[in-house]
Amino acid sequence: MAASTLPAPAIRCRELCDLPPAESADFILYIMSAFRRTGWNFALQQAVYLAQDLNKPLLVVELLSCSMPFSSNRLHRFTLDGMADNARRLKNRGARYYPYVERQKGQAAKLLGRLAQKACVIVSDDFPNYYAPGEQALNIQPRVSTIAVDSNGLMPLNAIPQAYPSAYAFRRFLQKHLPVHLVSPPHPDPLKDAALPMLPDRLFRDLSEEFPPSFDLIGDRSDSALSSLPIDHSIPPAPCTGGTTSARLRLTRFLDHRLEMYAQYRNHPDLDVTSGLSPYLHFGHISSHEIFFRLSEAQQWSPDRLSPEIRGRREGWWGLSPAAEAFLDQLVTWRELGYAFAFLREDAARYESLPDWVRQTLESHEQDPRPWLYPLEDFEQARTHDPLWNAAQRQLVREGIIHNYLRMLWGKKILEWSAGPRQALSIMLELNDRYALDGRNPNSLSGIFWCLGRFDRPWPQRPIYGRVRSMSSDNTARKVSVEKFLSRFANRGAKK
Ligand SMILES: Cc1cc2nc3c(=O)[nH]c(=O)nc-3n(C[C@H](O)[C@H](O)[C@H](O)COP(=O)(O)OP(=O)(O)OC[C@H]3O[C@@H](n4cnc5c(N)ncnc54)[C@H](O)[C@@H]3O)c2cc1C
Repeated sequence: MAASTLPAPAIRCRELCDLPPAESADFILYIMSAFRRTGWNFALQQAVYLAQDLNKPLLVVELLSCSMPFSSNRLHRFTLDGMADNARRLKNRGARYYPYVERQKGQAAKLLGRLAQKACVIVSDDFPNYYAPGEQALNIQPRVSTIAVDSNGLMPLNAIPQAYPSAYAFRRFLQKHLPVHLVSPPHPDPLKDAALPMLPDRLFRDLSEEFPPSFDLIGDRSDSALSSLPIDHSIPPAPCTGGTTSARLRLTRFLDHRLEMYAQYRNHPDLDVTSGLSPYLHFGHISSHEIFFRLSEAQQWSPDRLSPEIRGRREGWWGLSPAAEAFLDQLVTWRELGYAFAFLREDAARYESLPDWVRQTLESHEQDPRPWLYPLEDFEQARTHDPLWNAAQRQLVREGIIHNYLRMLWGKKILEWSAGPRQALSIMLELNDRYALDGRNPNSLSGIFWCLGRFDRPWPQRPIYGRVRSMSSDNTARKVSVEKFLSRFANRGAKK
């Protein structure tokens, strides 16, 4: 049968088990664990392509494990919203959708082991992280052809030769090497034209009897829905809805009403002009390719507007409005800088991965007197002397987000008010990954390690910081508007 959906580019596919497809087996298995979406997803596209090519049914298993560190009502609810969305999108399509929420640790591994026995080929998501999501965390060792596919960003991770030390150096690399990859984006809807055989009901019934799919749970937004799961119930769902539909609504709102103010006002917490897309990008509910495509469409962009002689400069590369260029610098340069670092450096989450000059300067100031010193609990409960810092922490705890500019201040102050840089690192990781919807992401490391000096240059000497850039709440309050933010997140206990 002629394949109408093209395969993913070879550079995005990594063989995890290099065996020929088991042609007598029952289906192609796509394990959706990081790119939790039905379009603009190279991994799903590759699975559709293989199903067409081998004339096999496609089974899409979306997993939600309770073994992931920091599993909580907040993170589960957001993921389940996305699963409900995917169930709607895959209804009556060429693939069979199988949402599976683990009710006890170890169940998902058993399900995957069982499915692997029946799969011709397994396709999975290649996501660089310090907490590997989905099946990587479950440590299955398949004895069947298995491919991990990279649908993380515009630049294939395998095409990046090194972990770049700065955004400038990475931007220079991108300016030279990204254009060729822009012409092969993932299919917006890879199942659209795919003619696939359906998975026999008998097979689905057998699997379902042993491992019931979680259709009931993903559609249930009641408070009690999550109560029987072995996850942290003390962190409530965030006041937003996960999933591709919500992500697209946010993207439209951003492009229509916020983008034009982005370059000028993105640092102002009171103005709230950023996209708010990072949780959706983290859970894979939206792809940076789709965001890029919608932005290009809105600004009638084409690759001939790229400027070839730009040499690492931020402005003027894309040939777009200054606001769009500023946004793409975050979405592409900064976001993918962090993904590349986490992909290429196994030690990305460890203190030792900081540049030598950073460690030397921080350690030479480790004995500096610290007028303020707080343990994790005081930080967590927003019990510092600084109202702006406390407000930022309350936003994180209540809403699962922090405005980027205050997030920088938040991290810098944890460095200043902890016993040393290692303690500061562990406090930042703990709080960010426990509470932030976009936590546990390569960019959690980028942001946190940026506060400690990664991707930055030396600055004039300061107590405690040494030559690492410092920040102060007074300066922040002078530079950007925070009055409304302060009153919104004033100390009112746990209430909103
Ligand atoms: C201490 C600290 C911790 C951070 N932890 C995280 C985290 O856990 N997860 C996370 O995604 N980002 C993290 N960041 C980066 C940044 O704060 C968020 O990406 C940004 O605030 C998300 O808001 P937005 O979607 O409205 O961004 P927008 O301004 O609309 O930008 C669009 C997208 O670009 C990317 N982006 C924006 N700023 C950055 C940046 N500085 N570095 C890398 N990518 C960026 C994000 O994917 C974002 O969604 C952290 C920064 C700091 C200083």
